[in-house]
Amino acid sequence: MSALTDVLLPDIGDFADVEVIEVMVNVGAAVDEDDVLLVIESDKASIDVPSPHAGVVTEVAVAVGERISTGSLLVKLSVDAPEQADIEPATGGPSDSSVDPNSPHEPETAATSSSPFPSGTVSSGVAPLSATRTPAASPEDSADFTADVVVLGSGPGGYTAAFRAADLGLNTVLVERHSSLGGVCLNVGCIPSKAYLHTAEVLEDARAIEAHGITFGAPSIDLGKLRGFKEAVVERLTNGLASLAKQRKVRVIQGEGTFTGPNHLRVVRDGEHEVIAFRHAIVAAGSEPTTIPGTPEDPRIIDSTGALELSDIPERMLVIGGGIIGLEMATVYAALGSRITVVELLDTLMPGCDRDLVQPLRTRLDARFEGLFLGTKVTALKAQKRRVKAEFEGESAPASGLYDKVLIAIGRRPNGGTLGLETAGVNVDEQGFVPVDDQQRTNIPHIFAIGDICGQPMLAHKATHEGKVAAEVIAGLKSRFAPLGIPSVAYTDPEVAWVGLTEEEAKAQGIEVDKAVFPWAANGRALGMDRSEGFTKLLFDKAHGRVLGAGIVGRHAGDLISEAALALELGADAEDLGLTIHPHPTLSETINFAAEMVTGSITDLYLPRRKSN
Ligand SMILES: Cc1cc2nc3c(=O)[nH]c(=O)nc-3n(C[C@H](O)[C@H](O)[C@H](O)COP(=O)(O)OP(=O)(O)OC[C@H]3O[C@@H](n4cnc5c(N)ncnc54)[C@H](O)[C@@H]3O)c2cc1C
Repeated sequence: MSALTDVLLPDIGDFADVEVIEVMVNVGAAVDEDDVLLVIESDKASIDVPSPHAGVVTEVAVAVGERISTGSLLVKLSVDAPEQADIEPATGGPSDSSVDPNSPHEPETAATSSSPFPSGTVSSGVAPLSATRTPAASPEDSADFTADVVVLGSGPGGYTAAFRAADLGLNTVLVERHSSLGGVCLNVGCIPSKAYLHTAEVLEDARAIEAHGITFGAPSIDLGKLRGFKEAVVERLTNGLASLAKQRKVRVIQGEGTFTGPNHLRVVRDGEHEVIAFRHAIVAAGSEPTTIPGTPEDPRIIDSTGALELSDIPERMLVIGGGIIGLEMATVYAALGSRITVVELLDTLMPGCDRDLVQPLRTRLDARFEGLFLGTKVTALKAQKRRVKAEFEGESAPASGLYDKVLIAIGRRPNGGTLGLETAGVNVDEQGFVPVDDQQRTNIPHIFAIGDICGQPMLAHKATHEGKVAAEVIAGLKSRFAPLGIPSVAYTDPEVAWVGLTEEEAKAQGIEVDKAVFPWAANGRALGMDRSEGFTKLLFDKAHGRVLGAGIVGRHAGDLISEAALALELGADAEDLGLTIHPHPTLSETINFAAEMVTGSITDLYLPRRKSN
């Protein structure tokens, strides 16, 4: 038997006439007790309004943009009513103290008595707890402590989110399984790889300067010292994060975190466990390298983490995967003296990037590497006594080759499937990604996800920006993640960088663009560095003239792309970029000149006049 019940806005404390910013249910939706019905927002905070009962929504009485106050009708619910006496005619009304979160007279129901959140723990600026939002703890999970926000994973996304949340006044806990903070990026990703790429650049420059009449002897490489330098850089940054956490009073818990319900995270370390009860969670657990099924366990077959250990300089090294990570590691090992072969399954290096941008890199790699085979599949890896045998399938590749080391760099897989998220009701897709909206919310409104785990591109700077959005939304700020472009950079030699729309995307989507390509052969600084193989490409919207995208290949392209990213975000056009005075002689002038090619004011190149109609 079921009965209809009105759900009214409970007394939510010091808030009146608040705006409805999100309605989470439709007529016909089945809701559980505590499911969020709608989100309201005052000038101080955004607040989730949960359902006091399980039932089916028969009427939604509010809409986004409407302003409501305590006692406003929100929805009508059809609830199962085994016995008539159990049905409350109207819950959450102003005179109904049973759902007043701040009422000292809360009835001692099973749910409320297990609440880990006495009202005193709620920080200012954050929604006061509703009695009906009590976490559903499993019996053995009596919480050891509570947090406004628990952040799972301390990579660039996680530590940024935790620090921002703490700065916004939230009681924040950061959980990390490793002893050092910083995640993949600081420990086994961006930072160590760039430390080694700097070494590679110096070695290559020392060789290249021979053409200018300066000759150095063959380098003597002390691998221990080189590793030591990399480790010192990593340690400095990760220790810095630990201090920043301390300064902000972010509680850092080391251990493997697993969700055990919608408001509980269990953290296990050395067989001991602690349970954190949280009001909000931010899942920032990142990704792991993918491998090729059937790959034998062998210390000579490594992933990017193994490559960064730099245990030796192999004589011959096979890099499987011509994406950014594979090519960066290949660049390091080639500079140190390894003979490198790269194989890539697709018919282009670094898919996602315009092919013309990759070409100058390709030309240089062809000269530098022993082999570079596109459209090639590795069909078998066999660990032999002296070397690893790789078998290939591809038009131009040999049938097989023998290598001292094999680096598998074929991509990364998100960690969404390993965190017990199902116990919290959070959706995880079949690849392991956790889908989110533009406020980084998962399908469970108080649980957020950021960084590699919530989607492509898997880049540190995407993770940090998403982390800030999640923390700010939890604190009640009106933030969302809506960039016009996320720059990608391959720190190869030359570097390749792009942001916004690519030329290939423009073609595929039928977007008409004005394109300008300024060759670095006409840039004095590039010539002075003897690195004039690069170019700068800008794409402008044909109708409005605004920058839509940019691609740069050449030395320091990764630094140069930021100007294009800013132009894109500001809606700059070619005139803005052309009239901005760039210092001379710099590589940055190539952006200035490319824009002038579109406005027609370029003097550093001769462009035949276009016939005017
Ligand atoms: C070799 C390499 C080079 C790279 N270079 C660049 C680059 O130059 N620029 C760039 O932008 N990106 C680069 N990346 C990618 C970049 O590292 C990632 O995009 C970034 O680290 C993602 O950040 P994140 O916060 O999502 O997660 P991660 O950095 O992956 O951090 C996740 C953290 O969660 C922890 N964790 C996971 N599960 C649990 C659990 N159950 N309990 C407790 N803790 C858990 C992990 O230990 C980890 O510390 C590189 C990656 C690699 C591998």
